[in-house]
Amino acid sequence: MPELPEVETVRRQLGQSLLGLRFVSVERIEPAMLLDCTPEQIRAELPGRVVEEVARKGKFLVLVLTEDAYLTLHLGMTGHLLVARELGSGAAVQRGTGGIGAGRTEKSQPAGAEVSDPHSRFLFSLRLSADEAADRHEQAAPSVWLEFRDMRKFGRVQLSFGSPAPRLARLGPDAWKGAWDIDYLRVRFVGRRAPLKALLLDQSILAGIGNIYADEILWAAQLSPLRLAGTLTLEELSRLASEIPRRLEEGVRLLGCSISDFVDTDGRAGGFQGTLKAYGRQGQTCGRCGQTIVRVIVAGRGTAFCPGCQF
Ligand SMILES: [Zn+2]
Repeated sequence: MPELPEVETVRRQLGQSLLGLRFVSVERIEPAMLLDCTPEQIRAELPGRVVEEVARKGKFLVLVLTEDAYLTLHLGMTGHLLVARELGSGAAVQRGTGGIGAGRTEKSQPAGAEVSDPHSRFLFSLRLSADEAADRHEQAAPSVWLEFRDMRKFGRVQLSFGSPAPRLARLGPDAWKGAWDIDYLRVRFVGRRAPLKALLLDQSILAGIGNIYADEILWAAQLSPLRLAGTLTLEELSRLASEIPRRLEEGVRLLGCSISDFVDTDGRAGGFQGTLKAYGRQGQTCGRCGQTIVRVIVAGRGTAFCPGCQF
């Protein structure tokens, strides 16, 4: 499942591709992936709106649109967001520079751009354009296609007005960039008899950490996933609080982890899987102490850790 660094990778690329573009049409909708909105609403409300910002909280992406509309996306287990450009020679595209209204116009490279394969298995397909013709819904306007493909249909799309999807309000601060510190963790862990890993996965405490990064963070902090959260010393909490953003940042720097099937908006794999120290390494030697990595089940999730140096 895509976690914070994978979703952040997609967010940055969507920002570069979509900022300032206007929805022209909704080509295809998979109703099973809609949450609290209907295909009719999507078709009626999206065309004409401009992408003002591509935001992220935890594992959720939010396209902030004009007139206070929000398209909240969750990639689920196997969702892929892909961008395809259909640009004629000399066509101009709007590229974002990071912020609402901060778009600037650039000349695109002529053609060579991919156009959506009508026979491919996609579930959502949206067409956007920077061209004035798009305002009149003319088919001739150079287009950017945003496709949300998900073979297992756990991905979700939610259209809302006034604020992003309500469930985002129930998330804790973003694990990488959110406003939290060691004191925040201490208050939430005190007295808790749940295993440490379960609390790392709890999105209402910190948003964005999933199974892979939880195992990697705990290995880096030399903490056992089985430790009862309430028993951590201040020194241990401090190690944890510094390794959480550090490992997530490494994932962002390497454009995500593709040990499963994650790809970015251009269909390319990330590089974090080459750095894994614990996740998926059961039976192999620990790179720090030489003991054998073991696999246990914690909070219903397969969990790898080193009994020789994680306590
Ligand atoms: Zn070890």
